[in-house]
Amino acid sequence: MAKPIVAIVGRPNVGKSTFFNYIIGEKKSIVEDKPGVTRDRIYADTNWRGRDFTLIDTAGIEPKSDDIIISSMREQVEIAIEIADVIIFLTDIKQGVTEVDKDISLILKKSKKPVVLVCNKSDNFGNTNNDIYEFYNLGIGEPHAVSAVNASGIGDVLDEIYKYFPKETEANEEGEVIKVALIRKAKCTENLHLQIRYLEQIE
Ligand code: GDP
Ligand code: MG
Repeated sequence: MAKPIVAIVGRPNVGKSTFFNYIIGEKKSIVEDKPGVTRDRIYADTNWRGRDFTLIDTAGIEPKSDDIIISSMREQVEIAIEIADVIIFLTDIKQGVTEVDKDISLILKKSKKPVVLVCNKSDNFGNTNNDIYEFYNLGIGEPHAVSAVNASGIGDVLDEIYKYFPKETEANEEGEVIKVALIRKAKCTENLHLQIRYLEQIE
């Protein structure tokens, strides 16, 4: 049965890992005492409304220095476009729309992949934060307010991605194809660190 792939993309520090960990931690038990298992994990199988899917935190390819931030973001988004059925584009409502967010949006729009736009750090649950309206300017649809630390709004985002999952009758032997795509991508990249992490995860 086809297992949809959902990739989280976004600038460093918007809360991708917090969001990822909340979703996978909520859905399956994670062995916390194994060093690195939770924190360094970049993909995990989980489910929503009875449908299994694979969630990928593209944080594994985040740059550690500012000068390569843009090229690394592009690489991150391109990998997500290549392997994902649905992309969660995470932004930070406290910081507002940045130039990198605009850059990512342009690439995502060109790809025609389904994208769910999320404004993380909307911590005041129940209060409409007017800062969210700015995110409509990215031109990729309705922004969804969430707070990954407070675990609010996340169900709505999962409902949204669920709408884009391929119908189960369209199932094929997707799992193997994805592994091959990941290996190929990992081999192509010049980022050795990323290669190692991807290969570790898929073995
Ligand atoms: P990543 O670099 O995109 O993976 O971001 P992280 O998940 O590592 O989070 C970056 C920082 O943002 C950490 O200090 C998190 O605690 C914080 N953070 C993540 N989600 C939220 C949120 O919903 N609200 C607030 N206020 N902080 C958050
Ligand atoms: Mg991270």
